[in-house]
Amino acid sequence: MRKNYLLAPGPTPVPESALLAMAQPMIHHRTPQFSEIFKETAELLKHVFQTQEDVLILAASGTGAMEGTIVNLYSPGDEVIVVNGGKFGERWGKISESYGLKAHWLNVEWGKAVDPIEVKKLLDANPNVKGVLVQASETSTTAAHPVKELAALTKDKNCLLIVDGITAVGVFDLPMDAWGIDVLVSGSQKAFMLPPGLAFASLSAKAWKFQETAKCPRFYFDFKKERKNLKDNTTAYTPPVSLIIGLREALKMIKEEGLQNVFARHDRLARAARAASAALGLKLLAPDAPSNAATGVFVPDGVEGGKLVKYLRDTMGITLAGGQDHLKGKILRIAHLGYVDTFDIIIAIAAIEMALVKAGHKLELGKGVAAAQKILIEGYK
Ligand SMILES: *Cc1c(COP(=O)(O)O)cnc(C)c1O
Repeated sequence: MRKNYLLAPGPTPVPESALLAMAQPMIHHRTPQFSEIFKETAELLKHVFQTQEDVLILAASGTGAMEGTIVNLYSPGDEVIVVNGGKFGERWGKISESYGLKAHWLNVEWGKAVDPIEVKKLLDANPNVKGVLVQASETSTTAAHPVKELAALTKDKNCLLIVDGITAVGVFDLPMDAWGIDVLVSGSQKAFMLPPGLAFASLSAKAWKFQETAKCPRFYFDFKKERKNLKDNTTAYTPPVSLIIGLREALKMIKEEGLQNVFARHDRLARAARAASAALGLKLLAPDAPSNAATGVFVPDGVEGGKLVKYLRDTMGITLAGGQDHLKGKILRIAHLGYVDTFDIIIAIAAIEMALVKAGHKLELGKGVAAAQKILIEGYK
């Protein structure tokens, strides 16, 4: 037999309590029984988003909330700044251009965080810009962008800060209201510890004002309609009932652990992964601004990254992520977000060491594990 471990930056492992809750017999969504679950879930979500605003729950993958944001807040011809530092930054730009928005692309080297000064320069040079689109955590490069600093730039302007927090919400501190984030989106299959299928979006009062005049075509992702239904503890269309029942369980787990403790756990796991990488001589992809969601490392010279990922998955049962586009075959991403704890990191590091040795790379077995242990032990009294 072979035991499998899912350590990719989404989908992530699902805790037993959520799995069991989702295995209950189906209930109808237009019932007081479902409405009560929905109401409680929506309230718990606000806690994790650190907002007093509504958090819309959509039946879609995370990209649905991204597209919904663009079509509900903008009109064709509107100008936005797209922070393009990876696959997901690029996605903001592609969605915007699909709906006829004029995107000012701010290209950032993969693995780097955007410099807020560059954003300010673009904002000053283009006074009609009505939005800055960015990732809090650019999963494709494992870099984190400086959201707090960007929020300060858009605050007093007729311009929204729109943040893809898909691998950030529930991973590290991203207080939507306190920082002045105008739109924060996320998805179920990352730190929310659920299967794919739910997307979330929360809008500030300023963003809801944009919604009143936005002319992009929309039907399914109609945020105004969803908000109206949310107030009645229901959804506009048939919701993924089982996923919402699972979400309630996952959110309860987060609340029980405590949001700050959840952030501290992710920080500890991330530091352990980075320390292990350093001990093994694996260069970090995002050394200056690493995200606590995942750690990207370059595969050593002479080792084929694609083969390494395949060997880890197919022979050892460890699913890690490789790289995309020009980083394909060059990097390895160790995810540590969601239902992940100390010994998942130990497993990941131990497996990487063994797979590298199998690939002919010279290293001292256990060196990375020991470096990780030194940090992970902090998690115990
Ligand atoms: C996973 C992810 C998405 C959404 O991808 P979907 O496949 O649509 O769920 C968007 N942005 C980031 C940063 C992500 O990690």
